[in-house]
This record gives sequence, C-alpha cells and structure tokens, in this order.
Amino acid sequence: MRRKIVVGNWKMNNTIAESEILASEVLAALGENFSGCEVGIAPTFLALEAAGRVIDGSEIQLVAQNCHYENDGAYTGEVSARMLNAAGCASVIIGHSERRQYFGETNATVNLRVKKALSEGLNVILCVGETLAERESGVTDAVVSSQVHEGLTGISDISSIVIAYEPVWAIGTGKTASSAQAEEVHFLIRTIITELYGDIAAEALRIQYGGSVKPSNAAELFAMPNIDGGLIGGASLNATDFAAIVKAASH
Ligand code: PEP
Repeated sequence: MRRKIVVGNWKMNNTIAESEILASEVLAALGENFSGCEVGIAPTFLALEAAGRVIDGSEIQLVAQNCHYENDGAYTGEVSARMLNAAGCASVIIGHSERRQYFGETNATVNLRVKKALSEGLNVILCVGETLAERESGVTDAVVSSQVHEGLTGISDISSIVIAYEPVWAIGTGKTASSAQAEEVHFLIRTIITELYGDIAAEALRIQYGGSVKPSNAAELFAMPNIDGGLIGGASLNATDFAAIVKAASH
C-alpha cells in the first residue's frame, strides 16, 4: 500500500518572516493528525532555512521549488541541488508547469535537473500535465507520455521519485479536474511506468494530483486508486485548509 504524500507549494509567496509564521501555523494545525501521510512544505529559496528551523524535529519535510543541473558556476539567479541538500531539503519539485511556461524549461532540461537532484541525494517531485489547448485537441496522453518518458530518460531507479500530474488548466484557476479525469491520467502514468520499470516499481510509485485541490474536493480525489496525494498551491498558503487536505489524505 502506497503512503500518500501531500506537499504545499508556496510558490513566490511570503517573506522570510511570513514563511516562519506560516510554517508554525502548519505545524500547529497538523498536530499529530497526519500519521499515514507524508507531508512537505516548499517555501521560496530565500525562506528555506528559516522555515526549516521551524519544522526541524517534526515529520514535515522541507521541499524546494526548483534546482539547477550544475553544482556551481556562472548561472546567475539559480540554485543547485547540492546547495538545497546542504540547506536541509529532503525533496525538490522539478518541471512545474510555471517553470515550463514562464522560464523556458523543456523536457530535456527537466531531465537534467532530475538527474542532478537524484545524484545529490534529494527526492524529486517531477511535474507533468497538459495545457487546456492540448486537452481540447485530444493530445493529453501524448503530451503526458512524452513528459514522463523524456523527464525520466537515463534514470534507472525511480524509488526516490514522485510524479505530480498537474493539468495546467486546473492550476490556480479554481477548475479542478474531476476525480475521473484525474484518475484516467494517473492510470496512464502508472501504465507507462510499468512498461519502463516493471510492475514492482510502478506499484510503488506515488502519483500526486495538483490543480485547485481544496478541503472540499481533496477526499474525493484521494479516494481514487491511482491518486496518491496532492501537490497543493493556493490552499497551502492557509494552514487550516492545508491541514484539512492532509487529513483527507491521512484516512
Ligand atoms: C501547483 O502550483 O502545484 C498547484 C497545484 O496550484 P493550485 O493548487 O493553486 O492550483
């Protein structure tokens, strides 16, 4: 049985001081209620250490929102996996649709980042998902399939990887994929993983759903057989809502 995983992606929100407050609120709101579910928070790079100090000693994991594929060097504005590891991160989100859409990331650069993060001992949340135009033109399966294949090229062990299916049209829009729509793509992803890595690895892989998950729709989504938790944007900025989503995944 796969352990569910819920991660709050705080995106470009909160100063260091505000991140400390939100991390304390999350800690208090979760209490002891999340056994059975893995939980992480992903503050901005700047607030990682401060938020990390707040959750230190708890079961909440520190997650970064991106990493570069080199260790150091002339890459102005970037942060490497090695640095994230040293800052106490357990995991890193790679290939978020906002990175692909606004910062020119491609399946190839996503793949380089995934490989580097794994080699630095970080767990990876690899994001995939189609745009509205792609869904409407009937190429969802092809798009997600190439994101999975190309994102994982050259990687032989996926035990430290979680895949997040995040339909771009559902992110931050208030439009959630129905549980049936999400399950269909999650099933496709697990099928691709079975073909690439075999039954045991595919059964063990956690596939999160992301896209306007809220306390009111979390339980229905997480009840689907191939949905193993959520990557939560907007609702993760409110500790009470985030805790309610974690609770929904903990049942
Ligand atoms: C996300 O950014 O990963 C996300 C799912 O955002 P939201 O929950 O706000 O749609």
